[in-house]
Amino acid sequence: MFLSIDADKCMGHGRCYMSAPGLLSDDEEGFVAQRGQTVEVPEGMREEAQEAADACPEGAISLRVAADTDA
Ligand code: SF4
Repeated sequence: MFLSIDADKCMGHGRCYMSAPGLLSDDEEGFVAQRGQTVEVPEGMREEAQEAADACPEGAISLRVAADTDA
């Protein structure tokens, strides 16, 4: 599973990295440090990844089975 964060949608609410501290972190401005990136979600952290996506009020986080599909 891959988690992508849309840099244009991210407003720095910080809910994602508070929901999934083992997967995401904050930068010095309070935005998620992985903004604009796609990260691979380790097998045991899928639930955290889903919680992070659900927590984002901007809908900036998307989850995919593979890096280059919308599945
Ligand atoms: S919760 Fe959403 S808007 Fe807030 S920092 Fe995370 S990705 Fe950005």
